[in-house]
Amino acid sequence: MTIASILGSKGRDVFTITLPQTLLEVCSTLREHRIGAILIVDDKGKLAGILSERDIVRRIAEHGPDALQADTSECMTSNVVTCSLQDTIQTAMARMSEGRFRHIPVVENDELVGMVSIGDLVKRRIADAEREAEDLKNYLYAS
Ligand code: AMP
Repeated sequence: MTIASILGSKGRDVFTITLPQTLLEVCSTLREHRIGAILIVDDKGKLAGILSERDIVRRIAEHGPDALQADTSECMTSNVVTCSLQDTIQTAMARMSEGRFRHIPVVENDELVGMVSIGDLVKRRIADAEREAEDLKNYLYAS
């Protein structure tokens, strides 16, 4: 099962921002779209970073509430790990577990084509496992 099939069901919406933006502004965007991470792109639309709620929490713990006025560029992760449409769910999950993050952007020919969270992948794996168990049960009872 590939990342393309996940995007086929969840859609290819990708929420991005350009800088400058304070962490407070990003908080409203995360709330508005009910997401846990946002991708930062440059003025050509090229992926420049990722900022997740964890980065915001860390910054507040270090600097107190003033942290919310910091620019996102100071807190984002610039070295973004991505996956492709052809990658399997297992490959993407392995990358996330190795890097200890819960979001992975999908990039094809240098273009952002989607965003997948660990929740999307776990949901699909559970659905697949349930379908397989059901098929097996039907096969056993039919024979
Ligand atoms: P998360 O678990 O996704 O909330 O992110 C935990 C940390 O990993 C934060 O510092 C994020 O900026 C960073 N992060 C999230 N996703 C990625 C990714 N795909 N590549 C690199 N870093 C990431």
